[in-house]
Amino acid sequence: MNVADSQRVASALEHLGYQAVRRPEEADVIVLNTCVVRQSAEDKAYGRLHSLHPLKKQNPNLVINLMGCLVGVREPKALKERFPFVDVFSPPSDPRPLLAYLTQDESRLLEENATTARNLMLDEEIGDLLLPSEQRGRLVSGFIPVVYGCSHACTYCIIPYRRGVERSRPPEEILAEARALVDQGVKEITLLGQIVDRYGKDRPDYPNLAGLLIRLNQIDGLKRIRFLTSHPNWMTDELLDAVATLPKVMPHIEVPIQAGDDTVLANMRRGYTADQYRALVQRIRERIPGVSIATDIIVGFPGETEEQFMRTYELLAELKLDVAHLARYSPRPGTVSARRMPDDVSDEEKWRRFRMLEELQEGIAAEIHATYWGKTVPVLFEEKVKQRWKGRTPTNKLVFVECDEDLTGQELPVKITWTGPWSMLGQLTA
Ligand code: SAH
Repeated sequence: MNVADSQRVASALEHLGYQAVRRPEEADVIVLNTCVVRQSAEDKAYGRLHSLHPLKKQNPNLVINLMGCLVGVREPKALKERFPFVDVFSPPSDPRPLLAYLTQDESRLLEENATTARNLMLDEEIGDLLLPSEQRGRLVSGFIPVVYGCSHACTYCIIPYRRGVERSRPPEEILAEARALVDQGVKEITLLGQIVDRYGKDRPDYPNLAGLLIRLNQIDGLKRIRFLTSHPNWMTDELLDAVATLPKVMPHIEVPIQAGDDTVLANMRRGYTADQYRALVQRIRERIPGVSIATDIIVGFPGETEEQFMRTYELLAELKLDVAHLARYSPRPGTVSARRMPDDVSDEEKWRRFRMLEELQEGIAAEIHATYWGKTVPVLFEEKVKQRWKGRTPTNKLVFVECDEDLTGQELPVKITWTGPWSMLGQLTA
């Protein structure tokens, strides 16, 4: 989400006549886009912010813009007092305060209900404002936020507090943006939302994600469509069937489980049980042949016992999902778990559980990847990384291929010649 937001800010700045530079010392404007989902991310944001102070002292004309979840959607009074050298504070996904500051155009701030940069753009400007010029014709895989904010309120999660309530964008706007990205050379679009499968539920016209996928699938020149992240409770058969039948929608689902124990899940207020998740995985696999599934897990949630953790371990071993994004629980200010549940699993123990799952998942991923050995799969190439072209299979597996030609944005059949737990190697067959 932050990558998408940053691309839009960069592009909006270009529209005002600014150009990207390589080093912060050369900049007239610095935008620091921040994440606070875990303490480590927040620490990093503060570290970067402090490192900018000397630049501001050297060059008082430098404009520093702090953006994103560190700022949040409310008036950032404490931050303003603590960091007086910051010129502009912007909520997540909202470049308007910066643009207004740079153009001194107060009228732009008056659109109270506006949620995105889109609101200050005329339709014909959309294309200009999506990608910074250095990415046009080069960026293969683009993002479109379709749901801003989140209203679910998992007890551990700070996102609803910082990104505000759930707001789905109108389908027409998303389609226009998708067409504009494709015009700029993008071949793959990933739709983003904290709970992307709830897309449209907050809108009077009640569009849904399946319907959106059907319309996106018709865009000429677009090769692949993905979406993330889904919540288990909103994965309808209609959505799964859309993924299965629409040729451009890739067979890959990101659906976090977070924990494999029902008490922990209830304490997290996730709204499902381990058995329900199990049944969901089965349903996804039945409806979408060859699907890959990624999940998120938090270890060391308050009160998580060894036995409860082992239920997560065993469920992961049983389900054999393709990817598991692992995190150690981190209490976040203002959340229910931070206020009411003591962070009683030691750091050492969180690490131990983390490493156990990591090792387990490494084995599972290696096993799944080994089934690709010798097969030929379509790979969409994104960029060259250290002499090799990097691309992805429909199931989102990373593939590297040696080739002297420019493969940017091409989808080509690749024969897999080696597989490991994190990536694969292959050769072009044509
Ligand atoms: N909206 C998505 C993603 C949320 S943030 C979802 O509901 O799954 C991405 C991941 O960060 C989450 O899935 C969760 O695993 C992790 N996360 C969120 N809050 C956390 C916290 N307080 N401590 C550790 N991990 C956290």
